[in-house]
Amino acid sequence: MSETSAEFSRNLRAAGVVGAGGAGFPSYVKAQGKAEFALVNAAECEPLLKKDQKILEYFPEQVFDGLELLMAAVGASMGIVGIKKKHEKIIPRLKEIAKSRKNISVLEMGDYYPAGDEQCLVYEATGRIVPPGGIPLEVGCVVANVETLYNAALAPRPVTETFITVNGGVKKPATFRVPVGITWREAVELCGGFTVKDPAYIDGGPMMGKVQTDFDLPVVKASAGIIVLPKTHPLIVKKAQSRPVFTRVGRSACDQCSFCTEFCPRYLLGHNVQPHRVMRTMLFAGGPEHKLHSQYGLLCCECSLCSLYSCPEGLHPREACVSAKGDLREQKVGFKNSQLNTGKKPEVHPVRDFRKVPVSKLVRRLGLDEYNKAAPWNDAVYKPGKVKILMSQHIGAPCVPAVKEGQRVEKGAVVGDLPADKLGCPVHASIAGTVRKVNDRYVEIYA
Ligand code: SF4
Ligand code: SF4
Repeated sequence: MSETSAEFSRNLRAAGVVGAGGAGFPSYVKAQGKAEFALVNAAECEPLLKKDQKILEYFPEQVFDGLELLMAAVGASMGIVGIKKKHEKIIPRLKEIAKSRKNISVLEMGDYYPAGDEQCLVYEATGRIVPPGGIPLEVGCVVANVETLYNAALAPRPVTETFITVNGGVKKPATFRVPVGITWREAVELCGGFTVKDPAYIDGGPMMGKVQTDFDLPVVKASAGIIVLPKTHPLIVKKAQSRPVFTRVGRSACDQCSFCTEFCPRYLLGHNVQPHRVMRTMLFAGGPEHKLHSQYGLLCCECSLCSLYSCPEGLHPREACVSAKGDLREQKVGFKNSQLNTGKKPEVHPVRDFRKVPVSKLVRRLGLDEYNKAAPWNDAVYKPGKVKILMSQHIGAPCVPAVKEGQRVEKGAVVGDLPADKLGCPVHASIAGTVRKVNDRYVEIYA
């Protein structure tokens, strides 16, 4: 590792920078690789979320600064900002900034889902296909989210705030920056409160996000936003269905039409993902309690396109793939030691371009047209009375509290940390105040 790379990586870890697109992968790890291309994932393809667009509209220089630091660290000779063509208001400014920097360009993409899938972006930007079960580094690419690069530009300043969109059933949908550790209830109040009765929400966007009903859960560093909907909305009902229910329905209703496979973005990239075959295993299994041992779900990226768009019967092929992956994990089977790992080079499906799913069609199918609001930027500074800082806000080992009850902390102080040899990074106080509660899951600070 070069000195530039080592220093950038140290700064990212100290600042607690993690993938802000939802995954929370510690960014310092990516900075230690070698790549020809550094790609900015600005596709933001989760319908109704707007925070990446707003960061690029209001703080584009910082994102480019972060990109340049990443390029220098990994030795990339080319930086590419992948953004959807529909953001025509922002693109001219991005192109102008790109011109003033070295070897950076802007790639305009179509408005389809999932344009922001890391492997789809790599293919669109470079024409390279990430090998099955592999990562972008294997084809000379490193991919970073917009907010991640914004935070990287400010490192080693600790990540104490996060950008979020609150959209759907709230009075004034908005995108803003809030201290990490406030509750989603506070975020909804900042948007004027609920407009729907008996609300639930999807944390992280309608496609890949998780249904939640507890609005007192804290916002974390990797949070991208929530969509508030009535608990009875078909999308909430469908996403909340349990394994015994979707298995029972899937066994009786799947007609093996294979639309789920034909539209699958990873299948279209040439990876051997075949959700209809996983569904077939469900048909053959003795009942909902039986394990699914189909390997055809192992390369599923869990984008939900099959369950929420492709399947004409409204079934759950994505959840079948996720279940199969879990069941196979118990048998210690992953893609690398599966029968599908043939070493064959993937080839893009010849009609891939014609099977891209337009986001407008998807929003209609999801029943979200009436909830799809502009969510404009709101630059009000929110000062909460207390925050709850979770010890686990990233992929890897959780932090261990580094403060005691009654201790006074300043904003940016480390409140949870972990040994340097473990995957993960520290978490910081997002406000100045007194630590009132400490346990192995969180630290609570009162202003
Ligand atoms: S699209 Fe639906 S009905 Fe068709 S094979 Fe897939 S799960 Fe079965
Ligand atoms: S969720 Fe469905 S469409 Fe998406 S990658 Fe998995 S199998 Fe393919």
